[in-house]
Amino acid sequence: MTTKATWLGGSEGSYGVLVHGGAGRAHAALLEDRRQACAAAAQVAIDLLHGGASALDAVQRAVEHMEDAPVLNAGTGGALTEDGTLELDASIMEGTALRAGAVCALPPFQHPIAIARAALEEARHVLYAGEGAQAFALAHGHRAALANEMITERARTDLADVLALRAEPLEVGTVGAVARDQQGRLAAATSTGGITGKRRGRVGDSPILGAGTYADDTRGAVSCTGQGEGFMRVTMASRVLAEMHAGFPADQAAARALAFLADKLAMTGGVIVVSPSGLLGWARTAAQMPCAHAWRGQPVSTTF
Ligand code: ASP
Repeated sequence: MTTKATWLGGSEGSYGVLVHGGAGRAHAALLEDRRQACAAAAQVAIDLLHGGASALDAVQRAVEHMEDAPVLNAGTGGALTEDGTLELDASIMEGTALRAGAVCALPPFQHPIAIARAALEEARHVLYAGEGAQAFALAHGHRAALANEMITERARTDLADVLALRAEPLEVGTVGAVARDQQGRLAAATSTGGITGKRRGRVGDSPILGAGTYADDTRGAVSCTGQGEGFMRVTMASRVLAEMHAGFPADQAAARALAFLADKLAMTGGVIVVSPSGLLGWARTAAQMPCAHAWRGQPVSTTF
């Protein structure tokens, strides 16, 4: 297993955004589509940040954009359960007051991250599951989607391959975003369909704070992708921020936490990070992780 860690830089003390389109391996055409979807999402976020929007709004809109991209494993195009149903996980967090919201095992809704955001805003509970998440979403004005509006042919084929044991049961393409705004506030968001062929009710790391997502203005903001069963067991997002606190830059902190996951559990994935001062970095132990980033005065660029 090789680790790739990339220091992207950033505008120290200014605003910026970094998004990912999931760790894993995809064939070239799909990877290119995912790269473009990431670039478009980063563009949406940097335009908002440039206009003075909060990091929280920027990561939400970036993730909504990626949830709409059928080539990514979140929202429309999300990975299917072994029964062929869609159960969606998402979380969002801001690093100033540590407000957070999350949903898991949510039936089809176009933007799970917007429902997570509604939980954050309401501030009564942090995480809603299954039928309760659905009821919460409906009560907050979100329209339930028809399964066929959100289940893609690719997701069906991936499931058939996994069930026929022609492929590993790890679908990739989970999405996430981290950002720092003009006021120095950080936020992180992650959204996924999970793993193709998962059992109904299985929940991964993406909606779990400290595992798939975390934001703390004093330490950094993180969004993760990879084998959720492992990411939860090593509290990956918290681990990355502990490495940042120990003095490692964003990319190295991510690489060190992923190395721990590999050594301890022989699992792979990827992590994106923004530091308290707005510097950006990522690392992956998976074969690919399409990412896009931008900061003040810099156009959107993409990396793998
Ligand atoms: N982390 C996600 C999960 O386990 C999957 C992924 O990132 O590809 O649900």
